[in-house]
Amino acid sequence: MMDLKHSRSVKLNDGHFMPVLGLGTGASDEVPKGKTREAVKVAIDVGYRHFDASYVCQNKEEVGQAVREKIADGTVKREDLFYTTKLWATFFQPELVRPALERSLKELQLDYVDLFLINVPFAMKALEKCKDAGLTKSIGVSNFNHKQLEMILNKPGLKYKPVCNQVECHPYLNQSKLLEFCKSKDIVLVAYSALGTQRDPKWVQEDSPHLLEDPVLKEIAKKHSRNPGQVALRYQLQRGVVVLAKSFNEKRIKGNFQVFDFELTPEDMKAIDGLNRNFRYIKLEFAVHHPWYPFSEEY
Ligand code: NAP
Repeated sequence: MMDLKHSRSVKLNDGHFMPVLGLGTGASDEVPKGKTREAVKVAIDVGYRHFDASYVCQNKEEVGQAVREKIADGTVKREDLFYTTKLWATFFQPELVRPALERSLKELQLDYVDLFLINVPFAMKALEKCKDAGLTKSIGVSNFNHKQLEMILNKPGLKYKPVCNQVECHPYLNQSKLLEFCKSKDIVLVAYSALGTQRDPKWVQEDSPHLLEDPVLKEIAKKHSRNPGQVALRYQLQRGVVVLAKSFNEKRIKGNFQVFDFELTPEDMKAIDGLNRNFRYIKLEFAVHHPWYPFSEEY
């Protein structure tokens, strides 16, 4: 499915292509205005073509502005870019799905997005209609466990399979079972918080382990003259996972893109696999009693 030697994109089950490395653009509201726009512009110059918007962040307009500026100055064309937007769970009534996407498009000042994600199952039909209307090229899901995915796939009258399942995934929560399941259904697993999250106290407990300070990652990074972040990203690419990396820092935005010119050995991969401890940074604890809460299942 993923051939890193020849391509930096993966073919989705609906025929569209998704770049294997994306910039996460979600950031807390404290981030000064303008930061997102700068980061996206730097990233486009560096070579990023995939941008992921957050469910909750209010910085979509800035992302849209950056994209439009880089199209206007001739650096990229709209069709070279892959932009993902998401439907926040409060829009669970199907009739609100399309207006929500239309509002996003208006904020972004774009005609379409490449991928529209939901994190609840009831909106699937409405999502399919957005694809048919050309407002999004592809549709997918986020934070689904394998049973929830199965439920969607078995839905009578399903018109389009989700192309991906975007979930938390990093060496401390490597999602190997969910990954295997997704691969068997031709669904791409997209990794978020691949660098160990932004440790925002709103979502993450303060005593959570620091992924990028892990001695095994540090050692492997040293051996390849890289940093632990680059190793954590390359790990995902080599196991066929599309990976998102959030950074608004120019040096790290550049560094995180330098993951196509080195290779982890099978021993490195095994050592990183060995770090798995099923540790989830983002537990969505406020939803733990919701019948759709996804993280009570093993995978
Ligand atoms: P992340 O990608 O795990 O990054 C965490 C932090 O690492 C960033 O704040 C960044 O800070 C720092 N960093 C980046 N590169 C580094 C490097 N090479 N070495 C050391 N530190 C580095 O963050 P995330 O926001 O949790 O996840 C990424 C994206 O996934 C989000 O922006 C969002 O698009 C998506 N997401 C989706 C969901 C969902 O429910 N679907 C949930 C969470 C996130 P600097 O900016 O200072 O570099």
